[in-house]
Amino acid sequence: MAKPEFDLAVIGGGAGGLVVAAGGAALGAKVALVEKHRLGGDCLWYGCVPSKTLLKSARIAHEMRHADRWALDPAPAQPDLARVMERVAGVIRGIEPNDSPERFRGLGVDVMFGDGRFVGSDAFEVDGRRLTAKTFVIATGSRPAIPKIPGLEATPYLTNETLFDLREPVPALLIVGAGPIGCEMAQAFRRLGSDVTVVDVAPRILPREDTDLAAVVLRTLEAEGVRFVLGASIEACAGRDKTVRLTMRGSNGATTEFSGSHLLLAAGRAANIEGLGLDAAGVTVDHGRIVSDGGLRTTNPRIYVIGDAAGGYQFTHVAEHHAGVVLREALFRMRWVKPSLVVPWCTFTDPELARVGLSEAEAIERGVAHRVYRFAFDDIDRARAESETKGQAKIVTDPKGKLLGAAIVGSHGGELIAEYVMAISKGMNAKELTGIIHAYPTLAQINRRVADQRLKEGLTPGAKSWIQRIFGLQGTRG
Ligand SMILES: Cc1cc2nc3c(=O)[nH]c(=O)nc-3n(C[C@H](O)[C@H](O)[C@H](O)COP(=O)(O)OP(=O)(O)OC[C@H]3O[C@@H](n4cnc5c(N)ncnc54)[C@H](O)[C@@H]3O)c2cc1C
Repeated sequence: MAKPEFDLAVIGGGAGGLVVAAGGAALGAKVALVEKHRLGGDCLWYGCVPSKTLLKSARIAHEMRHADRWALDPAPAQPDLARVMERVAGVIRGIEPNDSPERFRGLGVDVMFGDGRFVGSDAFEVDGRRLTAKTFVIATGSRPAIPKIPGLEATPYLTNETLFDLREPVPALLIVGAGPIGCEMAQAFRRLGSDVTVVDVAPRILPREDTDLAAVVLRTLEAEGVRFVLGASIEACAGRDKTVRLTMRGSNGATTEFSGSHLLLAAGRAANIEGLGLDAAGVTVDHGRIVSDGGLRTTNPRIYVIGDAAGGYQFTHVAEHHAGVVLREALFRMRWVKPSLVVPWCTFTDPELARVGLSEAEAIERGVAHRVYRFAFDDIDRARAESETKGQAKIVTDPKGKLLGAAIVGSHGGELIAEYVMAISKGMNAKELTGIIHAYPTLAQINRRVADQRLKEGLTPGAKSWIQRIFGLQGTRG
């Protein structure tokens, strides 16, 4: 059999694919990278980067209006969406060179543009060029799932792929989907001056999170004026340019109409795996998902699937982690043995809701013996100094105190959760965190204080009088 032309051929140049390509080339592999559209993927063009950039402008507008919280005169923020979106575009332009074809070609990667397909178990064809490789990596990402709503085909709508191109005012935004993207964009547009209504068939927002923590986000968004219509099905939609209507049926059977100037669909994601010639490559797809072996290897041992296309956790950091796994396996034949990943994530509303490991609801649902400890931000001095006292940290441990999960809803939750990612990855016990010194006054103190709760729980009146007897202490008896 002829020697394959490449060591690695990567299909899709987004968060995951770019890391495989750059890492492979750096390690001495001959790498091909095939991209259908432009390098950078969802994260750069329509996902993490634009959404977080927009949220920052929205937050500043909100804080200007509410400057009295910090004993300053409120200023009337009248955001011009076109200007704000230009800032978003500017941030993307600033990051784009890191993901440019020139940079990757400079690294030695053979970058090709086109819409190709597998033409056999060991070959991929793009624009008439046949690529053979020892290892292929499918890193084609995902796209917005379009829900089946009567009338949608004739109604103008936005998705995350078109939202950040807006330059016109958005007086009233209807959002379908109360997950992380729907909630983040609801708060951003509300703070930028739009009237916002979020609808979802689910009875609650952020369904992956514990109800009590998601409720902190819900209450905040509602207090800011976002309207939620939950547990209601969408019967129909209609509209034309700048006028859209949704007809909702509530659990009592009654229908209500909601209208807006724009409609945003944020109702889940679908993996981009169509049209890749997976049949020809012997890659099995089951229920819309590429079958892989617990790791990332598909039913064709020379083809891997990573990132959103793999259909599991859909985050940039997961796609990047997958890239590392594939590089180890493909280049060094080191099999991935870690049975379960410790994956953090964050919904970047204000307050942020960050999570890692087991939630309380999951522990209950799976019958895992557990304990739950909480600590509120309003008992953290730094949170008081910043007037950011909303929210709490919550940890889930096993009965002996081993950390199983943590969630933080509050200011900078996404940064604070990192300590728990480390602790859970290392199999630590809550009591080990209580002994770690945290700088004062930082928000990070909440991580130790919530772990302290576990220690305090052990201090029953019986234990206290035992300590008093043994060590001859004279304080009040418990
Ligand atoms: C609004 C929004 C906000 C988000 N915010 C966050 C966040 O804050 N944090 C976070 O971790 N994640 C976030 N995500 C998710 C994150 O963007 C994705 O998980 C990440 O981009 C997945 O990386 P990937 O490499 O799998 O796919 P992508 O980065 O999307 O790359 C896929 C690439 O494949 C190309 N492609 C597709 N089909 C083909 C084909 N047939 N042939 C060749 N190329 C093809 C695409 O053009 C694209 O360049 C967000 C997503 C959205 C939509």
